[in-house]
Amino acid sequence: MEEASQLLKQPVQYLKGVGPKKAAAYEKLKVKTAGDLIRFYPRDYLDFSSPVPVAAAVPGENAIIKGTVYKKQPEQRIRKGMSLFKVFVTDGEQDMTVTIFNSKYLYDSLELNKTYYFYGKISGNLYRKEMASPAVLPGDEKNLIRPIYHQTEGLTSKTISKDVAGLFSLLGDDVYDPMPSEITREYGLCHLRFALQNIHFPHDRSALSAAKNRLIFEEFLTLQLGLLRLKSRNRKETSVRISPVDLTPFYSALPFSLTGAQQRAVREAVEDMGSPSPMNRLLQGDVGSGKTAVAAALSFVLSKNGFQTALMAPTEILAEQHFHTLSKMLSPCGVKVCLLTGGLTPRQKADLKELIAQGGYSVVVGTHALVQDSVSFHRLGLVITDEQHRFGVGQRSRLIQKGDNPHVLVMSATPIPRTLALMIYGDLDISVLDELPKGRKPVATYAIDSAKRQRAFGYIKKHLDEGRQGYIVCPLIDEADAGELNAAVAYARRLSREDFKGYRVGLLHGRMKSAEKEAVMAAFVKGDIQLLVSTTVIEVGADVPNAVIMLIENAERFGLSQLHQLRGRVGRGEYPSTCILVSDHRGEETRRRLKVMCQTNDGFVISEEDLKMRGPGDFFGSRQHGLPGLKIASMAEDMEVLRKTQALAKQIISADPELSSVQNRGLAGMVAELFSSADQNSFN
Ligand code: ADP
Ligand code: MG
Repeated sequence: MEEASQLLKQPVQYLKGVGPKKAAAYEKLKVKTAGDLIRFYPRDYLDFSSPVPVAAAVPGENAIIKGTVYKKQPEQRIRKGMSLFKVFVTDGEQDMTVTIFNSKYLYDSLELNKTYYFYGKISGNLYRKEMASPAVLPGDEKNLIRPIYHQTEGLTSKTISKDVAGLFSLLGDDVYDPMPSEITREYGLCHLRFALQNIHFPHDRSALSAAKNRLIFEEFLTLQLGLLRLKSRNRKETSVRISPVDLTPFYSALPFSLTGAQQRAVREAVEDMGSPSPMNRLLQGDVGSGKTAVAAALSFVLSKNGFQTALMAPTEILAEQHFHTLSKMLSPCGVKVCLLTGGLTPRQKADLKELIAQGGYSVVVGTHALVQDSVSFHRLGLVITDEQHRFGVGQRSRLIQKGDNPHVLVMSATPIPRTLALMIYGDLDISVLDELPKGRKPVATYAIDSAKRQRAFGYIKKHLDEGRQGYIVCPLIDEADAGELNAAVAYARRLSREDFKGYRVGLLHGRMKSAEKEAVMAAFVKGDIQLLVSTTVIEVGADVPNAVIMLIENAERFGLSQLHQLRGRVGRGEYPSTCILVSDHRGEETRRRLKVMCQTNDGFVISEEDLKMRGPGDFFGSRQHGLPGLKIASMAEDMEVLRKTQALAKQIISADPELSSVQNRGLAGMVAELFSSADQNSFN
């Protein structure tokens, strides 16, 4: 047993037949150790176990044929470097031609009068069926379900499968199973050794499903245990007891009055924060629904109670903007706000941290710089995170640990299905801003092709001439890609020199220094910049009500939710606003997406459509919610196991909150492992 666990800790490089070059390829698949390799589950299987007669195989579709080779045609040279081999097979009733390109090896391995399984796409017609470049197994093969792995350059699925098989032969039978045996028994789970063997090389379908079931169970149980431990603080008492205060000074400094929904959210949160256990609340509201004002009101209440509020935003631009908004709303009523981001000089940072620790600021706005060890608070009472899906579970909890069980408010524009929300936040409460501020008009949205771009530019100029402002957004999939970045920069320059000559055009992208970004954003807020050409860095939260028109280039490159977020940057004030989506793509998917955008402004409808089009897999991906990535379990498809493990996890944690008993030692190890990988991956 010791030996096996030592082996699994070894870097893959030292496995037989791997070496440094393949190890580098494995690294791309996030496989670093032998243990990672054994947990690198196939993405799919080729199942040879139910062959069909040639007569039943449908041209155009994949089929498995079990047939005997009765004739082999000699090699044909089609052209230089290209050979064609033909092999004739029969299933006893009907013939089939197997064509093989270039692989003399495969051709030679097929012996006359021997039987094989062939898997591949059928072509030809009803009388003369063909299969090109099939996958082949000997007719007497016992393991008929073959794994297919995600491959990468330098690593085919076949190679991976060979390496895994090699590892199994080293591993022997003595694999430690971290799952307590009472659980294995009660839930009828197979042993880990069996599960691993059969997830890679299933003996048959029922062994595969037992293996899957066991691994899904294990994964969900681990996740739930980890989340429950993070959440165990919910049952603790908080010393942060908040009493309602008179909000009149705050309200009278506001340039508008809160909507009914905003008032309700404030009331709910304040009430919640008066109870002995910490608040854990999700504030959900579509883009433009005014979540920031709710955050401001709550910070005001906290400050009057003698507590600090920390507000964490996913980007510097957004943090800066929150800082300005909150300062404007709170400074007139004597509440001090500061901004802590990575962009400060070390000296400035040190001074600021000192003041924060002494309680010199009531409200501390920042990026994830806030979670650094060197940041401490005088009396942290409320932690607010904006656009939560960008933060990992671990990051949120590190910030929370800087106070004595402070209250938590998570603000999100993404409607999260309730089951998932419960998973992430535990016993959370939800406040919904289901009402937009008065006078909001939906953003009129049009999809055009690039032939109409000049006309659209003319329309934008007309708005700029009237004193309004606008955005042009260009997609940049990878800001690290110098080519794309240059293209965006060059495009901005061309716009300012040619199409928008005489107008004040600014450029904003993620690779700029934060001081530069800040300066550009400030100039745009002040109106010094009329037209902001930007990459998606403006996506989250930018708030300039005078900006009323947005043009999005290559709109096909964006997902629905992202388009909705982007569009939410306009239509934030009293003026009617317009969004123009430019795309020459004719693809059906794209057309459908753009059509949805033109038809509705409702974030909930859009997110539902998004879910439908992308499928749950993507939506539940760790990017969206900051949970550790799941290797095999699916929140959408394995609901049944999810529920079972949820109940079990609660039971285990209530009997052994720290998972410190001997029989739970294995579980504790699994939790530690899953959550250590989560923090590395979940922040973006
Ligand atoms: P989001 O929920 O998308 O974060 P914001 O908090 O940025 O929305 O608010 C969007 C815009 O609406 C801001 O310009 C803000 O000043 C304004 N706003 C917020 N609440 C109200 C209100 N009750 N009445 C009028 N305008 C409001
Ligand atoms: Mg916002």
